[in-house]
Amino acid sequence: MPSQPLSPSPMTNRQQVVRDNLARIRERVAEAAHAADRPAESITLVGVTKYVDAPTAALLLEAGCRDLGESRPQALWEKAATLEGKPVRWHQVGHLQRNKVDQTLRHASLIHAVDSRRLLAAINSSAARQDMTARVLLEVNISGDAAKHGFSAADMPTVVATLGDHANVQVLGLMAMAAREGGHATARENFAALRRLRDNLRSTVPEGHSLSELSMGMSGDFEEAIAEGSTLIRVGSALWEGLGI
Ligand SMILES: *Cc1c(COP(=O)(O)O)cnc(C)c1O
Repeated sequence: MPSQPLSPSPMTNRQQVVRDNLARIRERVAEAAHAADRPAESITLVGVTKYVDAPTAALLLEAGCRDLGESRPQALWEKAATLEGKPVRWHQVGHLQRNKVDQTLRHASLIHAVDSRRLLAAINSSAARQDMTARVLLEVNISGDAAKHGFSAADMPTVVATLGDHANVQVLGLMAMAAREGGHATARENFAALRRLRDNLRSTVPEGHSLSELSMGMSGDFEEAIAEGSTLIRVGSALWEGLGI
C-alpha cells in the first residue's frame, strides 16, 4: 500500500470536506425522495454560498453542484464575476430590490423570491430592455409571519390571473420559507400549505407560465420539504460544516 501523507494540504482538505458534505446531503435527498415515492432527480439542490468566499464556492462547483444560490444580489454579481466561464447556474434566492434587477438578470438563471407586483413589473421591464425572458418564482408568505417577505396566500389568485400581462417574465413556480418557530412539524405544515395553494392555482395559470416548481426546504427542513413536493431545495450551512465558518 502506498504510504499516506501525514497531513493533506489545506486546500485538498477543504475540497474533501465539501465533497463529503455534498455526498451526505445528496444521500439524504435520495432517502427523502424514496420515502415520498419520488425520483431523486426531480429535486434540484441549490447550494447557497452566502457564508463563503468565491474560491470556497468553487469547491462546491468542482464537487459537482452546478446550481449555486446567493441571498444578496451584490454577492451574486461578485461571485458570478469571479467564477465567470465556469458552468454555474446562479439562483437569486433572497429578497431582490428593484434597483438591482438589471444586473441580477444578467447573471441569474432563476429569481426565487419575487414578492411584490412592483418587483414583478420591474423585472418584466428590465427583461424587455435586455431583450430576454426572466425566469422567476413567486414568493408566498405561507407562514403569515409579519416579518417575512412574500405575497399573502389570499393575493395569489389575482397575481396568477394577471401574469399574462408580463410578456418578458416566465413564472415557473412558487417559493416559501417555513416559520422560524415550531420546528419540523410546523415546517411540514407550511410546505404542505404551499403545495395545496399551488395545486389550487394550477388550472388558472395563463399560457407561457407554470407552477411546476416548488422552492422550499433549507438545511434544517429539506426532508420535510421533499416529502411535500419540493423541486428546489436551498441548502447553505449544511454544505459548509467542518470548514470553520
Ligand atoms: C441562507 C438562505 C438559505 C440557506 O439556509 P441554510 O439554513 O443555511 O441552509 C436558503 N434560502 C434563503 C432565501 C436563504 O437566505
